[in-house]
Amino acid sequence: MKTLLLLVLSMVAVTCEANAQDAQCFSERAAMVETIRAHARSYAGVLGPQGFSARVLQAIGQTKRHLFIPERSCSIAYADRPLPIGLGQTISQPLIVALMTELAAVAPDHVVLEVGTGSGYQAAILAQLARKVCTIEIVPQLAEAAAKALRELAYDNVSVRLGDGYEGWSECGPFDAIVVTAAPEQPPPALIEQLKVGGRLVMPVGPAYTTQHLTVVEKISLDKTTTRGVALVRFVPLTRSRN
Ligand code: SAH
Repeated sequence: MKTLLLLVLSMVAVTCEANAQDAQCFSERAAMVETIRAHARSYAGVLGPQGFSARVLQAIGQTKRHLFIPERSCSIAYADRPLPIGLGQTISQPLIVALMTELAAVAPDHVVLEVGTGSGYQAAILAQLARKVCTIEIVPQLAEAAAKALRELAYDNVSVRLGDGYEGWSECGPFDAIVVTAAPEQPPPALIEQLKVGGRLVMPVGPAYTTQHLTVVEKISLDKTTTRGVALVRFVPLTRSRN
């Protein structure tokens, strides 16, 4: 009886701690969304005068970034900067996550591919906007940790696969939108092939360890695309499985 009581009390304590952490992060998260909204002005040429859509800001406002990073501190998780997630990789700055998500123009019936699962944070945001999200990660430990975090948070419409995203994931597609969160030197042909006509591929393009162009490729017909560079960004390189 005593053991049972102690068990119940410790469970209550754990739940309270988790709730307190969530409640504390609530204000940090709201502040982060305001920072993103305010920075829309810097991207007026890309986003238009209306800035970020309410849908994207709402998805970001509902996503618990602190549960996707190793150091679960609210102040660190919700600062508008990139953060290390281990194994030499980083989770992108929230503003850039918002920008890439907005540019992907995800609708509720869309099937979306993400290349570079990392922590799973961007996949969680996409999962709230799309019908189905398929995400590929090349580093086994990251793929495992992200799949676990996404499962625990009940993002049931996300599938995580371990592999080289340069080749895409044809069995999961074709895709209405593809978001690549590591930089290839050129847009990967397989990704353009797996994009539906009318679909968008959003990714950094350029050499490793320097700035790259955040690029939007639109597939306007089966054999035609348009490409535009929208901002300068800095991402980790897209590595290949033979490297
Ligand atoms: N979107 C992530 C951040 C990604 S950082 C998030 O929200 O946390 C870029 C990720 O791309 C890293 O985890 C890196 O391991 C992964 N990556 C690099 N090359 C890759 C490739 N060819 N295929 C799949 N993932 C790749």
